[in-house]
Amino acid sequence: MDNCIFCKIVNGDIPCYKVYEDAEVLAFLDVSPVTKGHTLVIPKEHFDSLLYCPKDLLGKVMAVAQKIAQASITTLGAKGVNIVNNTNPIAGQTVMHFHVHVIPRYSDDDQLKLEFNKNLENLNLPVIAENLSKKI
Ligand code: 5GP
Ligand code: ZN
Repeated sequence: MDNCIFCKIVNGDIPCYKVYEDAEVLAFLDVSPVTKGHTLVIPKEHFDSLLYCPKDLLGKVMAVAQKIAQASITTLGAKGVNIVNNTNPIAGQTVMHFHVHVIPRYSDDDQLKLEFNKNLENLNLPVIAENLSKKI
């Protein structure tokens, strides 16, 4: 993809701090880290988002994310890790080349809040579950 920042990183046209590389997967430090060691894991091949990544390759990307999560705990001193993917702009995706964020967590007050404490009422959970499960 000509205008993709992450393809340019894969090709070496834009520099990065590389954390891991193999034939299919690349991991590098995020240029605007939210915590120490914030890393992006990407397939070298361009897919606009997670939705289009073949599942075997998705598994390889996640396996690398797991290794980096483990390394952030054993070598950086993180106490936990958030593994995050944003799919489509509505969910915060700004670079349209599939990537997974590995975000090491060090303390309660590291200025980063990922909250899932909304409790939407009036949702028909049985119908939602049925609709989703029919498509999987
Ligand atoms: P998104 O919002 O799409 O989930 O995340 C995109 C991430 O890519 C952001 O956290 C942003 O800081 C990072 N990013 C954008 N451009 C570059 C770049 O040129 N180099 C690196 N290393 N990270 C980048
Ligand atoms: Zn790309």
